[in-house]
Amino acid sequence: MRITDIRELSVPLQGNIANALVSFAEHTVSLVAVCTDQLRDGRPVTGLAFNSIGRFAQGGLLRERFLPRLHAAPPDSLLDAGGTRFDTAAITRVLMRNEKPGGHGDRAAAVAALELAFWDLNAKLAGEPAWQTIARHFGHTPQGQGVPVYAAGGYYYPPGHAGSLADELRAYQDQGYTAFKMKIGGAPLAQDMARVESALGVAGGDGSRLAVDANGRFDLPTALDYARALAPLRLRWFEEIGDPLDYALNAQMAAVYPGAIATGENLFSARDVDNLLRHGGMRPGRDVFQMDPGLSYGLGEYARMLSAMEAAGFARQQAQPHGGHLINLHIVTGLGLGGCEAYPGVFQPFGGYAPGCRLQAGRVWPTDAPGFGLEEKPELAQPIRQLLTGSTA
Ligand code: MG
Repeated sequence: MRITDIRELSVPLQGNIANALVSFAEHTVSLVAVCTDQLRDGRPVTGLAFNSIGRFAQGGLLRERFLPRLHAAPPDSLLDAGGTRFDTAAITRVLMRNEKPGGHGDRAAAVAALELAFWDLNAKLAGEPAWQTIARHFGHTPQGQGVPVYAAGGYYYPPGHAGSLADELRAYQDQGYTAFKMKIGGAPLAQDMARVESALGVAGGDGSRLAVDANGRFDLPTALDYARALAPLRLRWFEEIGDPLDYALNAQMAAVYPGAIATGENLFSARDVDNLLRHGGMRPGRDVFQMDPGLSYGLGEYARMLSAMEAAGFARQQAQPHGGHLINLHIVTGLGLGGCEAYPGVFQPFGGYAPGCRLQAGRVWPTDAPGFGLEEKPELAQPIRQLLTGSTA
């Protein structure tokens, strides 16, 4: 078995939306394909993945640095002992040759897109959904009851945009979502609290069904002001309160904010997570870890993060990865994590799930499609076709 081609396509995100700090209008994502000489139903088996959402495409790093290393490796050195599956740990070692420790940055997303494509590939070689491949590899037995899911949105729209936050959340409710997340920190406190109240109205006044996300915007005094205003609402969680690497601020907030704090989506390595565990004041049984495999070297590094959490007394149910898309749905399902984000209305063509994914009573189930099932998502059909054939039609 050998790789015949590896392709990358930079795909722009659709939608002119912004969080407290960043406009997504210019964001791109790397869609990658690993093509092999193996055939299923007469067609070459091809692994597909992408580097999650919220950063940028990594075609430059892939072409200049990572793909040449993979192409130079002896084909057999990339396979497991049986020679019938790719060894994702061996592939990561090849990709990371001559890379110094630390300074993760964009390379963590470049490597992640590739590593995840090999998980898709291995699942397709086995003819099974990726969650089954993942569960077996990591020795986990999923319960088969779907995973908890919430709809993330509630962004700041440009002036003149029709509709309201409440309309947006009601639309998610109509699709079957029962819990929501919205952005804060892009407007003054009083205005944000009015937005939170209107969102809570859609959630039936139940704070456990609404999370807020400040996207790392607040300094300590502002964070404390918001914490005082939000605490009585008993929200689902208060996300990325300050700079993602300001563990002292996180610890100070954990000491005074009684509700759950969520963070971790901008940590890109297990070492970063070690530091959050040592210095961030995260509380076992309460707070939420949101590291995202697609932004942090893929599933191998993510599994090391989970091990670090568990060794420090946290439960894997406290992990809910950032990134509401099919790849993370399979990872959450396969590893038995606490829940899944969904982007039903934003970040197309990658956000949200395939139409066949069942959504019921606040839980979501992947389909039985082989791999991550990206081919089942209608919005991805054109980018996948362009990636594989070069056709822009
Ligand atoms: Mg966030």
